[in-house]
Amino acid sequence: MATMHLRNHIDGRWVEGSSGEAFEDTDPANGEVIATVTRSTTADVDRAVDAARRACEAWRLTPAPKRGEILYRAGEILLRRKDDLAREMTREMGKVLAEARGDVQEGIDMTYYMAGEGRRQFGDVVPAELPNKWAMSMRHPHGVVAAITPWNFPLAIPTWKIMPALVLGNTVVFKPASYTPLLAVRLVEVLEEAGLPKGVLNLVLGPGGEIGDHLVTHPGVDLVSFTGSSDAGAHISEIAGRLLKRVSCELGGKNAIVVMDDAEVDLSIEGIVWSAFGTSGQRCTAASRVIAHRGVANDVIDKLVGRAKKMRMGHGLEPTTDLGPVVSKQAQEKVASYMPVAEKEGATIAAGGRIPTEGALAKGFFHEPTVLVDVKPNMRVAQEEIFGPVVAVLEVGSLEEAVKVLNSTKYGLSCSIYTRNVNNAFRFMRDAETGLVYVNAGTIGAEIQLPFGGMKTTGNGHREAGRAALDVYADWKSIYVDFSGRLQKAQMDGGGTTSS
Ligand code: NDP
Repeated sequence: MATMHLRNHIDGRWVEGSSGEAFEDTDPANGEVIATVTRSTTADVDRAVDAARRACEAWRLTPAPKRGEILYRAGEILLRRKDDLAREMTREMGKVLAEARGDVQEGIDMTYYMAGEGRRQFGDVVPAELPNKWAMSMRHPHGVVAAITPWNFPLAIPTWKIMPALVLGNTVVFKPASYTPLLAVRLVEVLEEAGLPKGVLNLVLGPGGEIGDHLVTHPGVDLVSFTGSSDAGAHISEIAGRLLKRVSCELGGKNAIVVMDDAEVDLSIEGIVWSAFGTSGQRCTAASRVIAHRGVANDVIDKLVGRAKKMRMGHGLEPTTDLGPVVSKQAQEKVASYMPVAEKEGATIAAGGRIPTEGALAKGFFHEPTVLVDVKPNMRVAQEEIFGPVVAVLEVGSLEEAVKVLNSTKYGLSCSIYTRNVNNAFRFMRDAETGLVYVNAGTIGAEIQLPFGGMKTTGNGHREAGRAALDVYADWKSIYVDFSGRLQKAQMDGGGTTSS
C-alpha cells in the first residue's frame, strides 16, 4: 500500500507546509509508517489565521440553524465512516479497535449535539425594572479559535472543541497532535464534504513546540482551547494570559477508584481493569489509583493482579488484544522510569512492571499492565500522572480517609466509589474535589451532554461538552432596549421600595 501524504488545509485548499519538509506518522504497535506529514512553519500559521479571519464575518452572519445543518451532515458522514475511521485510529495511536470505535462514536455524539445547538443557543429574556424597557442576553462568537488537541482521543477531543466553536459562529485553526495527523485530516475532510465554507476550518500540521507559541500569541487568534499536558497548558496560559486572550485548558489527572468494605468487589474489579488499562492508561480520566478499604483490600489486590497478568498485549486491530501499545517510545520510557521510582519509595510491583522484549511486541511501544501495592499517598506514583497502564493501590480504614487520600493530589478530574451504602455514596459525591464523579462505575465513560473537565490544576475553570461548552466558545452580550421615549435611569427611577 502506498504511503499517504498529509497536508495542511488552508482557505479551503489542501496545501504543503512552507518548510518543504515532512515527518512520519507511524503505527506505535509495530513502527510501520502510515503517512508522511507536511511540517508547517510559522508562515503557515499566519496563512491559516488570515484565512480564518477573512471567513469570520460571513460565518458569524450565517444563521445558526444553517451552521447546525452543516454539523448535522458531518455527523451523518462520520457515522457512515465510523469503522474506517476507527481502524485508522487504532493504527495511528494504538488503542484497541472497540475503544477506537467508541472514540469515533463520541465524536458523532458531540457533532449531533452541537448541531442541535444551531436551533437553541438559549439566552435569557428577563423583566426589566423600568417600564417600556426590554432586557435580554445573547451569545456572541469570539472570532478565531485555535484548537490544540492531544493524540489520545484523536477524533473525539477535536470535535469537543471544533463543533461548539463552529455552531456558535467562530472560525477555527486546528493544530492536532503530531502523533495523530491522519484522524485530524479525516475530520477536516468530513466537514468539508458536509459543506463548510472555505476558511472556516483550517488545519495546520507540525510540531507544537515550534509553531505553538506563534499560534497562541497570534493577534488574529481570539480564543485558545487546549487539551494536553499540564506543562504545555501552563505555558500556553502564561503567554496567552499576558495578551489577555481567552484560554480554556483541559489538563492532567490522577484519578482514583475508592472500593469500600461494603462494595461488590467483583464489579469494582471490572471497573478498575477498564478504567486503569483501557487505552493503555492514556486517558486523562484513567484510574491510576485504587483506594481500597482494608476490609476488602487483599481481595481487590488478588483479583486485580490476576486480571492484569492475564491481559494479552498486541496490535489493537487483533480481536484477541486486551492492551495495545502506548503512543511512543518516549511515553514507553516515561512509564518504565516509574518502576524504579516506585520500588525506591517502598512500593511493590505486584503485576507487570516490564517492557516486553520478545517477538512482535518488541517492535512496538508496549508496557505490561502493572499493579503497584504498598503505595502511600505521598509517593510519586500516587501523586504524578504516569499516563500508562499502571495502577497504584492504596489502603485506607474509613470513608473519611479515602476522601482525604482522593483529594490529596493537585489534580481534580475524575473519581469513583464502589459502595452499596447510600450514605457513603452521597458523602463521597459531596466531598470529592473532582469535576467528574461516578458511583459504582469506573472513572471513565463521560457522556457528551454533561460538562467535562476538572477542578484544581486539571484545568483553568472551564468545561467542555454539554451546555457548559457554549460558555467557552462565545461571549455573553446583554441587551437593553428602552422604548419609553424618555431617559430612564436604572437603579434610580422607580427602583427600590422608597422611590416615588
Ligand atoms: P502535549 O501537551 O505535549 O500535547 C498536546 C498538544 O499540544 C499537541 O497538539 C502538541 O503538539 C501541542 N503542543 C505541545 N507544545 C505546545 C506549545 N508550546 N504550544 C502549543 N501547542 C503545543 O501532551 P500530549 O499530547 O503528550 O498528551 C498527554 C497529556 O495530556 C497527559 O498529561 C494527559 O493527562 C493530558 N490530557 C488531558 C486531557 C483532559 O481532558 N484533561 C485529555 C487528554 C490528555 P505536538 O503533538 O506537535 O507536540
